[in-house]
Amino acid sequence: IEAAVKAAREAFPGWSSRSPQERSRVLNQVADLLEQSLEEFAQAESKDQGKTLALARTMDIPRSVQNFRFFASSILHHTSECTQMDHLGCMHYTVRTPVGVAGLISPWNLPLYLLTWKIAPAMAAGNTVIAKPSELTSVTAWMLCKLLNKAGVPPGVVNIVFGAGPRVGEALVSHPEVPLISFTGSQPTAERITQLSAPYCKKLSLELGGKNPAIVFEDANLDECVPATVRSSFANQGEICLCTSRIFVQKSIYSEFLKRFVEATREWKVGIPSDPLASMGALISKAHLEKVRSYVKKALAEGAQIRCGEGVDKLSLPARNQAGYFMLPTVITDIKDESCCMTEEIFGPVTCVVPFDSEEEVIERANSVKYGLAATVWSGNVGRVHRVAKKLQAGLVWTNSWLIRELNLPFGGMKSSGIGREGAKDSYDFFTEIKTITIKH
Ligand code: NAD
Repeated sequence: IEAAVKAAREAFPGWSSRSPQERSRVLNQVADLLEQSLEEFAQAESKDQGKTLALARTMDIPRSVQNFRFFASSILHHTSECTQMDHLGCMHYTVRTPVGVAGLISPWNLPLYLLTWKIAPAMAAGNTVIAKPSELTSVTAWMLCKLLNKAGVPPGVVNIVFGAGPRVGEALVSHPEVPLISFTGSQPTAERITQLSAPYCKKLSLELGGKNPAIVFEDANLDECVPATVRSSFANQGEICLCTSRIFVQKSIYSEFLKRFVEATREWKVGIPSDPLASMGALISKAHLEKVRSYVKKALAEGAQIRCGEGVDKLSLPARNQAGYFMLPTVITDIKDESCCMTEEIFGPVTCVVPFDSEEEVIERANSVKYGLAATVWSGNVGRVHRVAKKLQAGLVWTNSWLIRELNLPFGGMKSSGIGREGAKDSYDFFTEIKTITIKH
């Protein structure tokens, strides 16, 4: 980290004084090279993380390419403000300057996607970067280093440091010459980062976990809602911060929804990541698999029912893969809102389905957890959709859909799901300092 800080500080004057157009050209060059190596990166990401190759090919790597292209373009379009006070003979305007050396820390679930979602805006705004990917998924970050060199990123502008959180992450967070930390990961780690960075009053962006509700009203179109909610619960093995893990269904359609949801979940094939028919691959690690399974055990001990998946259905895998960290998508019912399965982030292929009576009741129950990242609302009633979306304590609410992103708009969570937002304007604001200048004329 010391060596990286030195390199990043030395590179800062040169990189920050380049025009946005020049920086944009370099970012576009990175995007082009990454796109040309898409298959190679997708194969590596899938092997490293356990996700299906299909998902790495269609989501992780294309989105990483898009991250560079998006910020290469958006950096060209920022303007500043100017106001006048003629009666005092002066005008005021704002300027933005890059912050300096940006510390970026990312998790293992969408390794290259989330790393580049930080590197691209930080570089575009003129900062130099020290990035620490998760120690569990280092391969595509390593491959990216080579590609950044090839794209002509000057030495010292992006420094990727590999290593474990308590050692490398803490050295970065507590380094006095790194004034900004952008972190995506778990809430307990965010607490530690907040403590370590507090003495320096660092700029902090924290993108954390969720306990995301899906609310299904009786007028929902179940033909669309059921498959979308299976996907929102189990995509990437349920290892996406935006995954649904509490499904509230209005009582009048509860039985029908549950029947169809369990049937559709059973159709989700768990397979080796290269299997083109697999919807889910392997979980990240043995420790994580055991943690996810322990939640199912706790639910059973509390008297809940497991409708499909873990302990109920049989996992069918080739003999040589049976020791892998695979788990069936699991649906739990008859569980209380206070249960840890309904309040804690499991971050695996486990979701709970519970009934509700009224709109007011479900809003209160959906909001009753400490997290506030994302929610989905399923209803054909346009008034209800607007009303409920506004009252939910979540930074992102999808209605009759899931995971449709508009990169310009703010992304992030409320409550324990984080502080700060990411997006075109929000990331630019975060990765720059603003100053107001008053001119007396
Ligand atoms: P984690 O908090 O264990 O680790 C995240 C990163 O922080 C890793 O690089 C890790 O090495 C580093 N780290 C760990 N301890 C550290 C310390 N003491 N100081 C500095 N850095 C440290 O999280 P994870 O298990 O890798 O990721 C899963 C979590 O990430 C889930 O909670 C998930 O919801 C969250 N997540 C949130 C978003 C979002 O955008 N809100 C996106 C993806 C994942």
